[in-house]
Amino acid sequence: MNPNVRIRELQRDKCNFVLSGVNLGFANSFRRTMMADIPTVAIDMVVFEVNTTVLPDEFIAHRLGMIPLISTNCDEGMRYTRDCDCELGCPLCMVVLTLHVRCDMPGTTMNITSDHLQIQSGGDAWGGEELTKRGEDFGLPVSKSRGFNGHPILIASLRKGQELKIRCEAKKGIAKDHAKWSPCTALGFEYDPYNKLRHTTYWFETDKQAEWPLSANAEEEEPPREDAPFDYNAEPNKFYFNVETDGSLTAKEVILKSLSNMQSRTATLVYNIKHQSRPDAMDTTDAPAFPPAGQRTSGQDQSYTNASGWGASPNTSGANMGWASPNATAQGGWSL
Ligand SMILES: [Zn+2]
Repeated sequence: MNPNVRIRELQRDKCNFVLSGVNLGFANSFRRTMMADIPTVAIDMVVFEVNTTVLPDEFIAHRLGMIPLISTNCDEGMRYTRDCDCELGCPLCMVVLTLHVRCDMPGTTMNITSDHLQIQSGGDAWGGEELTKRGEDFGLPVSKSRGFNGHPILIASLRKGQELKIRCEAKKGIAKDHAKWSPCTALGFEYDPYNKLRHTTYWFETDKQAEWPLSANAEEEEPPREDAPFDYNAEPNKFYFNVETDGSLTAKEVILKSLSNMQSRTATLVYNIKHQSRPDAMDTTDAPAFPPAGQRTSGQDQSYTNASGWGASPNTSGANMGWASPNATAQGGWSL
């Protein structure tokens, strides 16, 4: 692979670029990582002290969870609750926001918005390396951030005498757990705009060309000739991305963190494969005994030949992956 990136447009919360020199699998992994693997901070628990609005607690809690919060450098600046030493949440793994609004004006409707959320201070006293890595306004609703010209998000409307008093706990998470943690609001992804590869079958009523107009990305590619034969071996190698974020992270940060995330996960995979080919590096507690008893005398499958040949044979040591069960070694019942 010889990756190449050409940026066509870059704004704080939007990036349009063309990625080429990679295969479809890589481009799609990149897309999925940007959508679902980059951690952000979002409201995850709400304690209602007073709620005399017309909306039930669950409704308001759901709306609060979807409010984007500034999450600059969240991957390094905050701990997952599950990784923290605390029991009930601390400033290292949690941002606390409070809101207390009451309408006392007769005859008017008062809107409660994300701008009414206040960060509860007091985290600085904890120290900790994570806190120093956080960006400016970390945990604040995006609409309140100084660098973002967003509109406040409506939470509820109040009439005279109605009140809302809540305490929100915002935690670090990824969109694989819940979509509220996704930094991306939209992620356009296209390749092969002329459908030369026939990965898509267009449904149409009368006129395919009229009902499926070409996208702007078609200008980047050669139109197909009418009489050109279908190339069964052709593969896509140019991918058009349009990344839009909700403001919790910048588009640039989402892209860079995604590449770094893919790199570290690939490195972890390679490391584990290499180190698990040695019996002394493996966890022996509950690895299954492979192969099944009925196949232990078979020498046909290379995957099963390694019980006694750890590293001794160049043919088997590298090929030995998931089957390198230390249990089988200990049993010694199927070595050749
Ligand atoms: Zn904690």
